[in-house]
Amino acid sequence: MNTPLYEINFPRENGLRLFVKRDDLLPFSLGGNKVRIGWAFYRDMRLQGCDCMVIYGDRRSNLCRVLGNICAQKGIPCYMLCTSVEREQKPSNNSRLMGWLKTEVIPCQKDAVADGVEALLGRLKREGKNPYYIYGNKWGEGREGVPVEAYAQAYQEILRQEKELGISFDYIFTPSGTGATQSGLLAGNLLTGGKKKIIGISVSRERERGSRIIGRAVGQYLENKKLPLPDDLQAHIFLEDGYLLGGYGKYDRRIKECIRRQFVENSLPLDPTYTGKAFWGMEQYLMENSIKDANVLFLHTGGAPLFYDFLMEEGGASCSCRL
Ligand SMILES: *Cc1c(COP(=O)(O)O)cnc(C)c1O
Repeated sequence: MNTPLYEINFPRENGLRLFVKRDDLLPFSLGGNKVRIGWAFYRDMRLQGCDCMVIYGDRRSNLCRVLGNICAQKGIPCYMLCTSVEREQKPSNNSRLMGWLKTEVIPCQKDAVADGVEALLGRLKREGKNPYYIYGNKWGEGREGVPVEAYAQAYQEILRQEKELGISFDYIFTPSGTGATQSGLLAGNLLTGGKKKIIGISVSRERERGSRIIGRAVGQYLENKKLPLPDDLQAHIFLEDGYLLGGYGKYDRRIKECIRRQFVENSLPLDPTYTGKAFWGMEQYLMENSIKDANVLFLHTGGAPLFYDFLMEEGGASCSCRL
């Protein structure tokens, strides 16, 4: 089933047309890119013959929510190495939902993740289980190609939707965190000899490190598929780190205004950490680079619980953002 893709209101002066693909409306666990990515991990887990899932992250993470939800639905034990201490953190919608799911939470120091992974995998094996750690070995290596598959397939979906609409996108913008989504779109573009520019608006990493990680992920994915790696791979990676506003989760009134405007004008629910920051970054990029006469696609990567966190914190009378 395709997620909706349609044109939205956007100042048209320069012959720009803006479309949005609503992966936030994927019909599982409140949607988002982690639904496609979560099912890709689940399929790989099955393929590897494993019988329980080990995840790593924060209670507020969209990925942990979706993976916890998949495991709960499938009746598969799920263990989360958790770097956040519950009582030191404000609850969020994701952390509340994590409380509902049957995921076993194991505290883990950020500087001792490898030891934590090793200890947990050891314990599960002694219990007779065959655990699947989503990031591969204890150093977090070995499965970089798995989430890439999810968005290489989504890219095919975009190509089909382009045909149906009778248009062709020149640019695809996506928020970029770990880079998995961007890597998948890029892999799909390379595999089909596409000429689209896939631009990640970084929400967490600086360009150089982020681009290297994307290059490795795409490389591993193509290698797994026994497909040739283009020599000029780095030349296809566009990761913009100029819109970070100080780093992951940081935002200011420009983001708040963008979120409010997009809800009013296009009824899009954006959040300040991922989609709101990336939408704002895309607007800046199009302006700063004087992009004209182009069809632009924005991938809405979800984060619905974060939209509601934002609405509760900033949306009341205290919201000073004006249009
Ligand atoms: C995880 C996430 C992203 C970033 O995706 P990556 O594949 O990690 O780059 C963007 N938007 C939302 C809502 C997310 O949860």
